[in-house]
Amino acid sequence: MADVLSSEVVVIGGGVIGAATAYFLCKEGAEVMIVEADDLSSGASGACDGFVSLQTKQLGGHLEMARESSQLFPSIVEELEVDIEYNRCGGLMLARTAEQLKELKARAKKLKAAGLDVETLSPSELKERLPDVDKNVKGASFCAEDSQVNPYKLTLGLAQRAQEMGATILKGCKVENIVVTNNRVREVDTSLGSIHSRRVVCAAGTGSNQIGKMIIVDIPILPQRGQILVTESRDRLLDHIVSGAEYLGTKANLAEFMPEDEEAQKLGLGFTAEQTASGNILIGSTREFAGFDNNTTPDAINAIARNAIEFLPWIKDLDVIRSFAGLRPCSPDGMPILGTVKGVKGFYIATGHAGDGICLAPITGKLMSELVLDGETSMDIEPFSLYRFK
Ligand SMILES: Cc1cc2nc3c(=O)[nH]c(=O)nc-3n(C[C@H](O)[C@H](O)[C@H](O)COP(=O)(O)OP(=O)(O)OC[C@H]3O[C@@H](n4cnc5c(N)ncnc54)[C@H](O)[C@@H]3O)c2cc1C
Repeated sequence: MADVLSSEVVVIGGGVIGAATAYFLCKEGAEVMIVEADDLSSGASGACDGFVSLQTKQLGGHLEMARESSQLFPSIVEELEVDIEYNRCGGLMLARTAEQLKELKARAKKLKAAGLDVETLSPSELKERLPDVDKNVKGASFCAEDSQVNPYKLTLGLAQRAQEMGATILKGCKVENIVVTNNRVREVDTSLGSIHSRRVVCAAGTGSNQIGKMIIVDIPILPQRGQILVTESRDRLLDHIVSGAEYLGTKANLAEFMPEDEEAQKLGLGFTAEQTASGNILIGSTREFAGFDNNTTPDAINAIARNAIEFLPWIKDLDVIRSFAGLRPCSPDGMPILGTVKGVKGFYIATGHAGDGICLAPITGKLMSELVLDGETSMDIEPFSLYRFK
């Protein structure tokens, strides 16, 4: 690397959020450099499911962001060279108990009032969409707008398109310090040398807290581990993305959907299943605060498998070919942190997407591009300000 580089904007992190931010910035003609400590998609974005799920979002700004994001996917599909395997397949959320179904109905009503098309299905209606569902499942909610995407290809595709539009991507390049003088970002010091820049976007996922320390700001992000099983490839078995109501409980900390079982609560277990374009089924997942440990554990793997079979008994006949774990960048309320930092001009935050970063990547990239280049955004991002935690 040359002794001193420069760029109009430096994006720290080559995950889906950094790649989407770079993509939208480049579309506006900005000069962009992505600085990635490891490799593109080496963080959470390469170790997750691909749900673009709307019915799992919290009412308010979170759901609005998800809806806007969902609407951006078709144009991204058009514009990327890479096939991101986007599939508007609809999403089912299964109820194990009559109480859960009642709560899902109440939730569907609220989501509908907010403009999202969600219906509840009786067991016989559910069977039409999911024929071999367990007989104990009491019904489901269904959202036709829910979709799926290949998260790895989405990240690589966005980064590649940004590069085609002029972005520089520095891999194996760790940000070690950010120089601020007279309350303005001036320089990013990396393991490969220094980069002059007056605008820096922190999209460093679970590394964001460390980046914040460099400008003496606390960005409260903790790694939340999620474990997933991957089965052998099969002809189409699932036409929709599928989850259990407890997934909503552990994801959004909603008491009415929390699992009753103590072990499941401890693991933050919530059932999810999706069949990828290549035929493999991804089965999830857990939510554990285990520091930066991204190893899988036998307890969690067993619990995920047992839980999945209770919803879809035929899963027991599939061979599991591998398991993996990823670390979600999680803020104290599980919502993204977006915006500027008081007293440090030119520093922008786009992190904390927890279990929603794939879904929210397009809108996050668009909003960050607007904020960096125009100083204002087309959607109100105040609810996602860093200062909501103070
Ligand atoms: C098991 C699991 C299932 C999930 N399922 C879904 C889902 O179905 N739908 C959905 O929407 N979301 C899902 N998510 C969440 C999603 O994966 C994340 O929200 C998203 O990937 C976060 O993207 P990111 O770019 O912020 O972080 P990351 O992908 O982690 O990228 C951050 C990057 O920053 C780099 N970095 C860190 N520090 C530095 C530094 N000092 N210098 C340079 N680079 C640095 C890292 O190497 C990393 O590559 C899931 C997550 C997990 C773990």
